[in-house]
Order: sequence, then structure tokens, then C-alpha cells
Amino acid sequence: MDSPGSSSQADAQAAEADGPRRRVRVLLPLPLAEAYDYAVPEGMALAAGDCVLVPLGSRELTGVVWGEGGGDLPDKRLKEVLARHDAPPIPEASRRFVDWVANYVMSPPGAVLRMCISTLSALNPPKPTQAYRAADGGSVAGKLTPARRRVLAVLEDGPPRLPAELAREAGCGTGVLKGMAEAGMIEAVALPARLNLPLPDWSQAGAALSPDQQAAADMLAGQVREGGYSATVLDGVTGSGKTEVYFEAIAAALEAGRQVLVLLPEIALSAQWLERFARRFGAPPAEWHSDLTGARRRLTWRAVAEGSAKVVVGARSALFLPFPGLGLIVVDEEHETAFKQEDGVIYHARDMAVVRAHLGEIPIALVSATPALETVVNADQGRYRRLHLPDRHAGATLPALETIDLRQDKPERQRFLSPTLKQAVAETLAGGEQAMLFLNRRGYAPLTLCDSCGHRLECPNCTAWLVEHRLAGRLQCHHCGYGERLPSVCPTCEAPDSFRACGPGVERIAEEVAECFPDARTIVMASDLIHGPAQAADLIRRIQEREVDLIIGTQLVAKGHHFPLLTLVGVVDADLGLSGGDLRASERTFQLLQQVSGRAGRAERPGRVLLQTHMPEHPVLGALVAGDRDGFLAQEAEAREMRLLPPFGRLAALIVSGPHAGDVDRVAQALGRTAPRGKGIDVLGPAPAPLSVLRGRHRRRLLVKADRRIALQRTIADWLTRVKVPGSVRIAVDIDPYSFL
Ligand code: ADP
Ligand code: ZN
Repeated sequence: MDSPGSSSQADAQAAEADGPRRRVRVLLPLPLAEAYDYAVPEGMALAAGDCVLVPLGSRELTGVVWGEGGGDLPDKRLKEVLARHDAPPIPEASRRFVDWVANYVMSPPGAVLRMCISTLSALNPPKPTQAYRAADGGSVAGKLTPARRRVLAVLEDGPPRLPAELAREAGCGTGVLKGMAEAGMIEAVALPARLNLPLPDWSQAGAALSPDQQAAADMLAGQVREGGYSATVLDGVTGSGKTEVYFEAIAAALEAGRQVLVLLPEIALSAQWLERFARRFGAPPAEWHSDLTGARRRLTWRAVAEGSAKVVVGARSALFLPFPGLGLIVVDEEHETAFKQEDGVIYHARDMAVVRAHLGEIPIALVSATPALETVVNADQGRYRRLHLPDRHAGATLPALETIDLRQDKPERQRFLSPTLKQAVAETLAGGEQAMLFLNRRGYAPLTLCDSCGHRLECPNCTAWLVEHRLAGRLQCHHCGYGERLPSVCPTCEAPDSFRACGPGVERIAEEVAECFPDARTIVMASDLIHGPAQAADLIRRIQEREVDLIIGTQLVAKGHHFPLLTLVGVVDADLGLSGGDLRASERTFQLLQQVSGRAGRAERPGRVLLQTHMPEHPVLGALVAGDRDGFLAQEAEAREMRLLPPFGRLAALIVSGPHAGDVDRVAQALGRTAPRGKGIDVLGPAPAPLSVLRGRHRRRLLVKADRRIALQRTIADWLTRVKVPGSVRIAVDIDPYSFL
């Protein structure tokens, strides 16, 4: 850090004598309404984007210079910038992005900035780390064991290595290295800590593309070379080679010396993607997600800010990394609702990625086999360009979808697999192929109740039933994480051992499978059963290498994976998700079931998909079976347009919450009374949220429905000034809500 030197009173007086001092506006990563002015000490060169240390009250905080100061505070009252961090500046596009997002989602800019400089310690140059190199002269005092010989061989060709790296390459423990250092065979050197990623090599040849793929790749790569903002929807069935196509655009960006950001919905589960990238470009991308260690996070942040990390693959928060030379953004599986961040700053990463591309004047590709209705409408209306890949690669056919009518084809009592589905599984396994049973429900049973009095086990903190997780031996709340053991006596009627499971979760399906197919090697994949990316990668590998016959899984298995021997997908409950008041229920169910179906028959063997349902006549199932995605979307668009729902109208939700129901109700009712209503705008509510108590907080919701011409954010901001809110009550604004709980 540059210290400003002596900023004594004498300096201040001298400055005042010389006329007004330079001041800058500094945005702090706090939920403050605006940036504050600070005086710039004599001799400190500061520019917009610089990271600085400033005093705030009794604290010292890191903020970012947001512009020249103004304000009417007299110089005397102004505090001085304490120091400038030795860190790359936050680029202009990132700063404008922070302001834009803050304004759009109605959060204080400082709260958004926090996502940008979340790893504050990244701002100071990282501490050097210790590495080993071969000792000069090679005087060998110690014994040369085979392990030690391997270490020396590794060090012979090339630079000093970090201990862990060296041990891995030489296939020994780090203890061996210590011993060798003591014996003088190798020596420690200090290396500046950096993210030691080899550069991805764009010049390596990619796959030989089909004519359709080539046309799409040329188009995207052309946009990258040309530069400037453009948004393209890359729309193609699962297995059509969309990833191969956008890899070509990435290569073009790398060739031009630019950085690339790829957003994936579940980065912790994208082992296959990472492997593929490494194979194509001879080097891994930089990863950005919540599983990174603190040290890794800091190094990655710095490598991105310095421009040395060329390709970043990340979850939604990667959008806020300070790329100085971004040349392309790819949002893969763009329809996924995981891109919506629901706590803190509430934003949709796909939509904000389009904004980031716009501000950075670069192309963005939105990739999906089942694009969101919003995206399709944007393409139809000419705002996005559309590239279409109609066929699966190498002639693999799309699987045949059929429904199983559970009203006729009934499972046995307390069982969930119909005779037809069981038969199909048996045939698949007998043929040496793999089957998958899909049920988007974790745990053993979604509801547990007392057989003698009907008492249901509920979460004490939330309006939600506890879900039995038999493998973990617990009942769990899926909203707050509360857990308890299954009580041996009913708390209401005191009947012993009276609790009964209602309905299936994946664990219960596993139990049924074990009964019907005792010889099948089965695994259950659900987020609570997988601890970290390494375990996920291992399970995926076991499936690929055919160490597994039957996979039972939640939506975790629906996406992206390529399992050549998987030929049967059975959807245990295709109706799950179709009920409920969510405006996107049909769309989401369609997307999810289409994605799951896409797992079947990805290679030369044809696939088959069986959907168990109580309502085979439902339009979503009809469209799935007919393979009529576009028809389904057109119908869905028409329905939304009639009701003025997104993307034809706009929505915003206000969630009022607090520990005391009375206070929350008073605020919610005051909001209801003062709500803006009139031409083009209407407010529904307040009403208790479906999760009316969550983590011990009472919740009420209001829903704003507005015409696209209404200045929604300004209207809501005005409205909020009209209501007095006690300190215990919080109002969260959710622009473009996806969750209505
Ligand atoms: P999508 O992203 O559309 O689901 P992928 O890019 O994952 O499709 O392609 C599906 C499979 O087909 C992958 O294993 C991929 O490597 C392979 N593939 C696609 N296009 C080609 C090609 N032109 N040459 C060789 N393999 C290809
Ligand atoms: Zn709970």
C-alpha cells in the first residue's frame, strides 16, 4: 500500500490556503445510499476505479474511487483517503455495471459493490509462497531413495514447483520434500503467489464440425472478432453440439487476447464440462464458485483483475468479477432458475449478464435446449439473434417419449413404480444397458404423519413439513435446515411408533428398487447425499465406466451429463411441479422433463423415456410426447400475453418480514393502503406468503403487476417513502420474481 506520508494539520492548512483540495467520491461495500466524499492527500495519484482505504467512523474500510467529489462539505470536515491499495483498478465497465444493477434491482450500490470486491484481501498483493527447486551443484548428502530420485527428475525440467504440486507429480508425500530440503538436495525459494494456470491454447484443433455446427460457430466467432454488443440464442436439442460450437467462439476470443466468462447454473457439478474444456484447450479454466477456499478465491480474483486468467467459469457471482478485457460471455443452460439469486441482492444472473455484455460492448451467447420463454420472446421480437442446431450429433436419435397412465397402470399399495415401468427397467438391465429413475424430491418421504391421530411433523421455524431423510436418520426442513430425529411417540396423541411416511422421495424409490432389482448396482444422486465436486465427479465417472446399472436422482442428474449406455429414463412423477400457482409451473416442468429425457440414448443406442402421470391429457405432457416444444412455447406465450404476465407485463414482489407478526402486518397493510394503483399498474395483496413463517420470521407478500411502459423502479421507490417501517421489519423488493413462496 502507498502510504500518503505525513498528512499533518500543516498540510491541510497549506492546502486550504491554496484553494479547494481535490476530493473523490468513494463507494464503500456497505448498504449505504451513496458514495462519500474524501479528500485526496497531497502527492497521492488517484483515478476512478482505484481501490482505497478510507476511514468511516472509527473503522477503516476498503472502497473504490467512484468519481470526482463535489458536495458542499467544507474541506475541514472532510476526511482523507488513507492509502491506495496496490491492486488493479475496478474497470469502468464493472463500475457502470454495479450502478446499473443497483438501480435495477433497487439495492444500494454499495451492496452490489460488495459482490465485486468480496475478497477484500485480494486487494493487497498476495503473500509469496514457498516453492522448491533443485539445489545448485547437486551435492548429494542424503540417500537417494526412489521417491527422491523422482522428485529430482521432476525438477530437472522446468520451474520451481509448489510443494503440493511437486509431491503430486513425483508421486510422494510432502514429508519426502522436507527431508530432501534438510539434506540440501532441493532448496526452497519464495515465489510470488499467483494463480498458476497454464494459458488455454486456442490454436489446438476442435472437433470437426457438421455444416450446421460450423455455420453457428462461424457466426458466433465472427461476432467475437467484430466486437460490439450482440446477443445470440444458441438453441439446439441436447446432444446437438452446442458446447462444441461455443468453444469455437471462446477460441476466437482467446485468439484476440480477450477474456471469456462462462456462467453455468451448478458449477460444483460440472466436472464433465471442466474436463471437456481442458481437453479442448489443453488447460483448465479458472473456477469461481462458493466451494473455493479463501486463498484460491483471492488468487483467482487477482488473476482476473490483472487479466491473466483468460477463461473464467463460474456461478452467477462471477459476473461481478473485475474483468479488464472481457470479450465474450456465455450463459449455458440459460433457462435455469438457479441463475436467480434469491437472498441479499436479488438478481437474475442471465438477465444481468446481458446488461454486462451491453455495457462492455461485447457479444453474449445464451445457450439452451429449452430456452426460457423470456428468451424466446426476445428472439422472436428481434432483440436477440437465434442460431438453431436441429439434430443430435452423429445421427443419435432423440428418445421416444411415452406416458404411463397411473390411473390404469397402478403401482402396488405403498409403491410407486408401475408394472410397465418396472418391466422396462428389467428389459434395459437385461440388455446390459443403464436406466435412470428421476424424481425431483430429496429424502425418503415429503410428509410424515401419525397413523392414529393424523398429526403432521412440521418445522418449528417455518410453515413447512419436515422431510424424512432415512439414510441420515433424521427429519429435515428443506427451508431452514432444522433437523430432528423421528420421535418414537406422537407428541399429540402419544401413540408409540405411529409415524408413517406419505409419498415418495428418491430414498424411498431406492428401497423399492432394491426389492424389485436386488442385483442391480444402484446409486442415488441428490444434493444432500453428495458432498462436494470431487464426490460428484466420482459418481459421474462410475456411471460412465458402467460401474452402475441404475441411477436414481433428483434434478441434479437432469442436466448436461453424457452417459452413452443410458437408454431408459423413467420419470416417477411427471405431475410434480404442475400444480401450484407459480406462473412458470408449466414452463419449468416442460424444461425439466425435456432435460431429463435428453439423458436417454445420447450415443448410438436409441433411448426411451417413460413418464408416469395421473393426467396424460395435460398440455405439457402432450407437447413433450409430441416433441412439440415450439407449439408449447407459443401456447404458453399466448396465455401469458392474455394475462399480461412476464415477459409481456412486468412483476415485482415486496416481501415484508420480521420477528413479530403484528408489526409485519401493520407495515404490510400500510403498503397495501398506499399502493400505486391506476392505469397500467395494479398491486395484489398483502397476503401471507405461502411460507408465511420462514426461519422464524413472519412474511407477507405484495405483488406489483405493471405494464411495460410503467417506470416500475421509480414507482416502487416513491411508494416505499410513504410507509413508516420499524427497525424490526424488513421490506425486500424482488424485481422480476421467480419464486412466489
Ligand atoms: P450439447 O451441448 O448441445 O448438449 P454437446 O456439445 O455436449 O451437445 O455434444 C454432445 C456430444 O457429441 C458430446 O460428447 C460431443 O463431444 C459430441 N459432439 C458434438 N459435436 C461433435 C462433432 N462435430 N464432432 C465430434 N463430436 C461431437
Ligand atoms: Zn424450517
